[in-house]
Amino acid sequence: MIIVMKLEATQADINNVEKELTNFGFDTHLIKGTNRLVIGAVGNPSLRENMPLERMAGVEKIVPIMKPFKLAGREMQPDNTVVEVKGIKIGGKEPVVVAGPCAVESREQLLEAAVGVKEAGASIIRGGAFKPRTSPYSFQGMEEEGLKILKEASELTGLPVVTEIIDERSTDLAKEYVDILQVGARNMQNFQLLKIVGQTGKPVILKRGMSATINEWLMAAEYVMSQGNYNIILCERGIRTFETATRNTLDLSAIPVVQSLSHLPIIADPSHASGSWKLVTPLARGAIACGAHGVMVEVHPNPKQALCDGRQSLSLENFKEMMQSLATIK
Ligand code: PEP
Ligand code: MN
Repeated sequence: MIIVMKLEATQADINNVEKELTNFGFDTHLIKGTNRLVIGAVGNPSLRENMPLERMAGVEKIVPIMKPFKLAGREMQPDNTVVEVKGIKIGGKEPVVVAGPCAVESREQLLEAAVGVKEAGASIIRGGAFKPRTSPYSFQGMEEEGLKILKEASELTGLPVVTEIIDERSTDLAKEYVDILQVGARNMQNFQLLKIVGQTGKPVILKRGMSATINEWLMAAEYVMSQGNYNIILCERGIRTFETATRNTLDLSAIPVVQSLSHLPIIADPSHASGSWKLVTPLARGAIACGAHGVMVEVHPNPKQALCDGRQSLSLENFKEMMQSLATIK
């Protein structure tokens, strides 16, 4: 439920309401909107009958939340969340572009990609150091060595960096080196991992599971938020359908649907959605035209030699062209 506080509510009123909720076993979450403060209370609603909330000083009204995702939903927070990382705003008016290789393969490769995508206008650099691969025999990532290189790329360019984490150990390591943690499609319903990521307090890019409904995806966000971490960026990366012409099917309709249900920012990943570098620019244009807060694309200085996802990676030249093409969409 949501406890809407009166405009004139004092800090003491807020503290008292929070204390009362905690005593009855609710988790509380303070949300400051543009002109008023609300307290989100998540817990067993049947306990509510015995609570004198309406009579407490400073309380204007109590509103039940109908959706299963409480903290991620618009009911709790009507204003869009803007996640800010090193001065870059995700969820505001300007779309952001996250770019870089699928995996960190070497210092030279990552730094060349990082400098190149920055020059072309990217705002955030990506690079996988822990790769969840379909085959155990495929390249699994450079792990901590890769994280060090990502940190160097961030220092060199001044841009934030994101990397995927796959378990508790990689989360503990990555949180010391990077600005944003990514939960991949394969781990979207790894609830234990979602809680661990929530506890880090770091911004999170949460990819949609390849067979996840929008409801399941928002419940995954709810797991992270239940740990007090509200800095989540959702990422639509294509879902499994009967179509085989593309690697996945980019669900563009998810963008406005999520925006109607949730206040969280949403970006799209046309690289994993399509599996083909030639489709990346048209799909990125489509996502921005649909209102996405940004795109995440794979870029490699030499896609033919990439250790993973070369077929869907843009060269630096292709990336420049994509950026020019995106600039014409408003
Ligand atoms: C990735 O971004 O490198 C990745 C593995 O993506 P996904 O989890 O969407 O497959
Ligand atoms: Mn990839």
